[in-house]
Amino acid sequence: MKEKENEKQEEQKTDNNKERKNEEVKSTPKAPLVEGYETIRIRIKTELMSAEECERLRRITARDTRIIKDYLRIIYHYEERKVHYKGKLKSLIQSNGKVNKSLLDYLTLTTSKKSAETKVRSSVAHDFKKRYPHCSHDEFQECRNKAIWICESWKAQQRTSNKKLSRPQLKEKTPRQLIKGSGSRGTVQVHYDPDNTEAKLLLKLRDTLDSKQCGKRNNPKLKLPLAYSPHHAKKLKIDEIKTAELVYKSREQQWWAHFKKSFSVPSYQSTNPPAVLGVDLGIKKTAVAVVLNHTGKVTMDEIRFIVNKERQATIFRLEKRISSIQEALDTRIKVGHPHNQLNVKLSQLRKRLRSITEQELGFAVNQLVEFILQMKQRYNLFVSIGYPKDIRNGNKHGRVNRSLRIQLHKWCYRLFITKLKFKLHQQGFDSYRVVAVCEEYTSKTCSRCFSTKTTRSSQGRFVCHQCNYELNADLNGARNIAKRLITNVLYPNGKFKKNNILCDYLSGDFHKLKEYGNFYPLGQWLKYSSGNISFL
Ligand SMILES: [Zn+2]
Repeated sequence: MKEKENEKQEEQKTDNNKERKNEEVKSTPKAPLVEGYETIRIRIKTELMSAEECERLRRITARDTRIIKDYLRIIYHYEERKVHYKGKLKSLIQSNGKVNKSLLDYLTLTTSKKSAETKVRSSVAHDFKKRYPHCSHDEFQECRNKAIWICESWKAQQRTSNKKLSRPQLKEKTPRQLIKGSGSRGTVQVHYDPDNTEAKLLLKLRDTLDSKQCGKRNNPKLKLPLAYSPHHAKKLKIDEIKTAELVYKSREQQWWAHFKKSFSVPSYQSTNPPAVLGVDLGIKKTAVAVVLNHTGKVTMDEIRFIVNKERQATIFRLEKRISSIQEALDTRIKVGHPHNQLNVKLSQLRKRLRSITEQELGFAVNQLVEFILQMKQRYNLFVSIGYPKDIRNGNKHGRVNRSLRIQLHKWCYRLFITKLKFKLHQQGFDSYRVVAVCEEYTSKTCSRCFSTKTTRSSQGRFVCHQCNYELNADLNGARNIAKRLITNVLYPNGKFKKNNILCDYLSGDFHKLKEYGNFYPLGQWLKYSSGNISFL
């Protein structure tokens, strides 16, 4: 009997698989793709490098920054001007915002070979090889590509924004994008050595920083040991590495290698009824999420409280200690006593608080993403997250050091939303499906009757005196946040909008959202609820 059952099950499985495959074949040509790239950051173990090597790394980046700046200066210089090139007048920045690479090379680089007859280098308008005589052609190209990338992304942003954006300011250390080569070619090579216990991955960088000064053709390659862990191995296969950037983070005083990995997944489409998942971010609990569908009813498995009590307690304890030390520091400064030790302690604690909060955030985002992936099976899902319009107002009576709290808070919300957006993007969620809406009044308003005659008890219960509705206060907030997205779509002249356009409060990005077509499924809300939206 069992065998027969097994056979039956197997048959069913194969049938299912066949159906699935058929569906896939049918749906693949239609589904648009969601594309993006992920940056995998690996720390460079500078403690394993000699002081000379560290100095060389610093000098390479400093020189690259100068070259990139020079390239940008030239691009900006020719923004409005035209150049005679191959018998035609051409502009350096084309009408589509792209930079003409060969024209830029024509303006800046010569082939270093002297022509046989004259034995003189042909001259160009801006001779980079004169300015940087030790730099190789490959290095120029990589710097040029970075400068072009900076300029083109600025132009692209300019096109979608209605404000006039100022030219991008370069950071003190802007790295160029190193291109991995095979064999002896390319400026960077990757070596994987599983037996090396200290650094399994080694970046070998070829540079010409001072080789010509010393009369050598090439320097020995600069070896950069990376803190490559199993966690990185999961995310990044070594064969996938094509480019690398060496980034210095001044706050941590650490060097990092950034590897980019592109992904493209089919865009999430659904024919299920529409629903909005509201997310309320908070202090005591990290996040509360609730699904609001067209029936207006919520079942228990459509609510998720995300909190890690242990970690929250640690955060709370740290905040308390920081505030007490801060007080002690203030009095010491007033009296005029030495306070260096306290300062050091304080910065250590703050660093720890930051890292723990970041951990907690990552944990919460992962949980929320898991919940959203469950819910997307049932509904045509949109996500609405409350973003504080001005977080300062809410923190006047903070228990701990106020400025720290404000800083941390702003940072938390922003980081949480960006992380969530990115993770969902990787799962095929188009950016318009995740909207940061204004959080104002969502904690004070009743989510059933919109009355503001409400109280919030100390146990986190929310009571409405108009309709006697009673529920968890955070849940009420999350429901209100979900509603805000729906009402904003259904009633175009709503209150919480910027310039009457549904706007993402985090990015200020309302150009994509302006196309209400994206929100078509939400517009169908009325059809599904057969006109009964009194709960809105
Ligand atoms: Zn009410």
